[in-house]
Amino acid sequence: MNYRVLIAGGAGFIGSHLADALLARGDEVIAVDNFISGRPENIAHLADHPNFLFLEQDVTEQLFIDGYIDAVMDLASPASPNDFATIPLEILDVGSTGTRNLLDLAVIKDARFFLASTSEVYGDPLVHPQPESYWGNVSSIGPRSCYDEAKRFSEAITMAYHRVHDLEVRIVRIFNTYGPRMRPDDGRVVGNFICQALQGEPITLFGDGSQTRSFCYVADEVRGLIAVLDGPLTGPINVGNPGEFTMRQLAELVVELTGTSSEIITMPLPAEREGDPMQRCPDISLISTELGWTPTVSLRDGLIPMIDAIRDELSL
Ligand code: NAD
Ligand code: UDP
Repeated sequence: MNYRVLIAGGAGFIGSHLADALLARGDEVIAVDNFISGRPENIAHLADHPNFLFLEQDVTEQLFIDGYIDAVMDLASPASPNDFATIPLEILDVGSTGTRNLLDLAVIKDARFFLASTSEVYGDPLVHPQPESYWGNVSSIGPRSCYDEAKRFSEAITMAYHRVHDLEVRIVRIFNTYGPRMRPDDGRVVGNFICQALQGEPITLFGDGSQTRSFCYVADEVRGLIAVLDGPLTGPINVGNPGEFTMRQLAELVVELTGTSSEIITMPLPAEREGDPMQRCPDISLISTELGWTPTVSLRDGLIPMIDAIRDELSL
């Protein structure tokens, strides 16, 4: 059975890969985006696809969509810590008013609602790895709070619509995802390190580089999101790769794979990074046991296409 799916944030990094995957299996996709952190080139290849429609719109404004919709997928939100410093109010708006507008659309269309939440709801976690049952260690006032609390609010309002309107919902908590189409200059670590390596600049470890992240290749991530969309679980459900690396290990791997002569340097954590989580790793028992999803792409294998994409983009 094929679906008609609306993807809010469909011109973004993950949203555009999700659109590709849904179209490839025969679904119809309506992508909605205002390009605040996404890019037209992410969806340029879909312009003439018969099952693809793009609407340039801010989802904090009410949405009017013709025809039926089977699923509303809410991926609309800037997600880079650089954005937390520059556009915190837009992030709070899209996580609150934006998500509410998309929930209202799902109610009107009698569609399944899917929320892309984040591992950031666990904050700087005191439980490791993080299971869905962990409530988190989150600052409500620090520089990351615009994003963390917006996502916590969007989870709360999604569950409220589920309870009040009997709306069918899915909530995923996405852990650090990487791959082609990430904006190389968005400040997130994988793109930063690759750009620095390819341009022969020093690779900047914030702090001593001992903090960890667990990186999931975008094709694996999208497969996990679709498994949750199609499956029976309301969630929240962690979707990420439990392979955990220190930022120093990541820097060393990027140096090896790019063959750069860049040196790895340490620098103080920038002020806007206050509250930087020291460790992050998903417990994926729920999704692997209940939906049979596990990631398959190693960090080493996934970095290669991302390095190639950034090399092309920077014309190096
Ligand atoms: P992205 O910035 O590339 O994609 C987000 C998209 O949403 C962009 O195209 C942006 O223009 C659009 N958008 C933002 N505000 C909007 C608004 N008001 N109206 C319409 N469109 C709007 O980021 P991404 O990495 O692809 O993240 C996609 C989703 O996944 C986000 O919700 C993010 O919070 C979540 N997520 C991502 C990661 C990750 O590692 N990439 C981790 C956890 C959660
Ligand atoms: N980081 C770093 N150097 C950089 C950019 C980021 O050491 O040039 C670190 C950052 O302090 C954090 C980790 O890399 O500990 C992941 O940062 P990112 O912005 O990718 O994502 P998030 O902090 O949201 O997981």
